[in-house]
Amino acid sequence: MNTGWNLDNSYARLPEIFYSNINPKPTDSPKLVILNNKLAEELGMAPQELKKNEGISVLAGNSVPKDSVPIAQAYAGHQFGYFTMLGDGRALLIGEQITPTNERLDIQLKGSGRTPYSRGGDGRAALGPMLREYIISEAMHALNIPTTRSLAVITTGESVIRDKILQGAILTRVAASHIRVGTYEYAAKFGNKDELRALADYTIHRHFNNIVNDENIYLSFLKEVIKRQASLISKWMLVGFIHGVMNTDNMTISGETIDYGPCAFMDIYDSNTVYSSIDTYGRYAYGNQPSMAEWNLSRFAESLLPLLNENHEQAIKLAQDALAEFHNLYKGFWLSGMRAKLGMFNEEEQDEKLFEMLLSLMHKYNEDYTNTFLSLTFDRIDELSMFKNNDFENWHEMWQERLARQKENKEMVQQIMKESNPGVIPRNHRVEEALEAAVTKGDYSVMERLLSVLSKPYAHSKEQLEYAELPPSSLCKYKTFCGT
Ligand code: AMP
Ligand code: MG
Repeated sequence: MNTGWNLDNSYARLPEIFYSNINPKPTDSPKLVILNNKLAEELGMAPQELKKNEGISVLAGNSVPKDSVPIAQAYAGHQFGYFTMLGDGRALLIGEQITPTNERLDIQLKGSGRTPYSRGGDGRAALGPMLREYIISEAMHALNIPTTRSLAVITTGESVIRDKILQGAILTRVAASHIRVGTYEYAAKFGNKDELRALADYTIHRHFNNIVNDENIYLSFLKEVIKRQASLISKWMLVGFIHGVMNTDNMTISGETIDYGPCAFMDIYDSNTVYSSIDTYGRYAYGNQPSMAEWNLSRFAESLLPLLNENHEQAIKLAQDALAEFHNLYKGFWLSGMRAKLGMFNEEEQDEKLFEMLLSLMHKYNEDYTNTFLSLTFDRIDELSMFKNNDFENWHEMWQERLARQKENKEMVQQIMKESNPGVIPRNHRVEEALEAAVTKGDYSVMERLLSVLSKPYAHSKEQLEYAELPPSSLCKYKTFCGT
């Protein structure tokens, strides 16, 4: 039977500055440790064939499917505010899978060896961080948040040297595309106007077919990207997700979440929460994410200036006006998400105030973000430590009165709240527990169980209850590492 590869290589038809052709580096003794059967089927592939030696060989970079043109993509980016030349230093694109529903999805091997963009790096990835990306990206997908997906992880049989010796691994990542804000910064800095235009036309054709007939197509493009990011970041904020490294190279143009490094979900509500060990100044703290997205979008807009208008001043004006919309767009998405989380079907002017009050109560009483919404959804407010405090009682009464002013009944309110408040998120201690069993004991059952629970966060099933429990307090000072 056929594995089902059905690859095209449209990115490799862009001007040469955007990529380097490379041959994957063979790996010693690849072993498949996890395969996403459902995603494989959605891609039009046969999971049982992918599990055979021939299938694994492709996921390990030991052979390439017919029709594949393997490339490493060039990009730059602002890392913690500073511009750097980057590129796929440890990844390669084997092509774009055309799925049975005619979607075009990038298939990328992450951890597949050195490329012309590796700089000082070894081009490899360690098992723990690749499994971590697998778990969190799949959890994000189940939470209905646009994200790259994870098809498989293989161990390479080789060692990767970090602060200790680790097992090497390769993640097969699936994405709408890997075009980043940093790809545009690269085009603007190192390409000419024709090359920049070629990239923009390519991206528009691939992701924004709705604007192809607009008058100023590049301005519409900028506005669409701003809108998608405003929507994406609102979704992160609504579930308490902290990306951790929102550098411009880690922000896609398609609007998918990408590059799960030191990311984590917030437990106790605090807008200053930072988990990443490298984010010393809290640049990418939970509460800063909307403004950091706006900062990144400004870098994107700057890169597009030559296409927005022949007149530089005019181009700047158009870009500034478009960027000025980010805040309102974000606010609108966030407010409507919060309304759903609190069972509201219509809009009232005071809603935002009510939301802010709840968040400051959570902060004051050290409440868990996710579980507070669950307690409200299932009317189990006695579980909250702020229960019986006057300020919370006042808030609760105001909320109940607010709900009573709309025509929807209690059942409808609970229904929308159940659909909007996850019963489970990938809690840091649960993720660590799964990684520990997999990496040190080769026991993938803990991870499989976690993945299964995380795959239906809005089911509110019995099996989720233990996964909703908070970590022992000793684990609260959780730190994440970049995992490179
Ligand atoms: P990341 O932190 O994964 O977003 O990566 C930032 C940049 O560093 C990208 O250009 C990566 O390709 C590159 N990079 C990360 N790890 C390695 C590695 N082990 N070898 C070579 N390049 C790397
Ligand atoms: Mg990156």
